[in-house]
Amino acid sequence: AKKESGSSYSFFNQQMAMNSLSKLEMGNHLRQSLERGELEIVYQPQVDCHLGQIVGVEALLRWNHTTKGYISPSEFIPLAEEIGTIVEIGEWVLRGACLQMKLWHRQMDAPLTMSVNLSVKQLNDERFVDKVSQILEETGLEAKYLEMEITENVAMKDEQLDALRCLRQLGLAISVDDFGTHYSSLSYLKRFPVTKIKLDQSFVRGVQTDDKDRAMIRAIISVATSFQLHIIAEGVETEEQASFLVANGCSHIQGYYFFRPMNAEQTFAAIQENLQP
Ligand code: C2E
Ligand code: CA
Ligand code: CA
Ligand code: CA
Repeated sequence: AKKESGSSYSFFNQQMAMNSLSKLEMGNHLRQSLERGELEIVYQPQVDCHLGQIVGVEALLRWNHTTKGYISPSEFIPLAEEIGTIVEIGEWVLRGACLQMKLWHRQMDAPLTMSVNLSVKQLNDERFVDKVSQILEETGLEAKYLEMEITENVAMKDEQLDALRCLRQLGLAISVDDFGTHYSSLSYLKRFPVTKIKLDQSFVRGVQTDDKDRAMIRAIISVATSFQLHIIAEGVETEEQASFLVANGCSHIQGYYFFRPMNAEQTFAAIQENLQP
């Protein structure tokens, strides 16, 4: 639509200028979001379909902006990465998520895991690994219950890979987020100290309609098997998608079909209900 006429071009340029202005403004707000208490963590359960049980949760960030209302993490995380605030925000999420899981472990007898999204930018901070081990100590959460999700990225530097290896040595699990959507995923698996693959929701979406998506899913599941990696599918919204995945060997599932992301209280209730015999 933006190429229809000359005037729409100038409109487009105005839009762009406005966007960069509001971006600047939003960046300033984002820097203050933590101290203003505008950030919240929600949790989405991960289900083992064979057991019919919740086995873990993923922590997902929410920003309740004072005037703009709810802003999606896909909008503000890239901005936080650009302006560097992601280091501070990422640490806040990690501490909050670990503390929450430790609380749940105290309240319930279930070895649930906590998955936290990690921006590759956080790995540039040379104190990152120390921070993680400090947070584990502080919160009392055992490392084996913590998992870091990181989006595959070919451009990862040796220092960043080393940091991931150190995290593995601490006893954390590492999963490749959005697997299959970015670069050459297979060579990536050779270089990376990963333990789990997250099958991207874009493939799951086509389960009923697209032969190629079904083929991708089968291929990715067999890659996980060959590399002896765990696998979980995300974005599962229908029973058909879930049964296709289970039938093809992927029984760990995350998605609206089972649970939407929920606040801590709701998550606790959902887990308790799920654990009842
Ligand atoms: P992601 O890590 O791939 O997270 C999955 C996204 O899919 C989440 O969006 C989740 O709410 C959504 N989702 C889950 N189940 C379904 C489903 O059945 N159908 C559909 N359509 N969507 C589903 P969300 O919460 O908006 O997060 C978007 C992205 O923002 C995340 O994608 C992640 O890359 C990033 N993000 C979120 N929290 C954090 C964080 O604490 N740190 C970092 N670095 N990134 C984060
Ligand atoms: Ca994720
Ligand atoms: Ca993902
Ligand atoms: Ca994603």
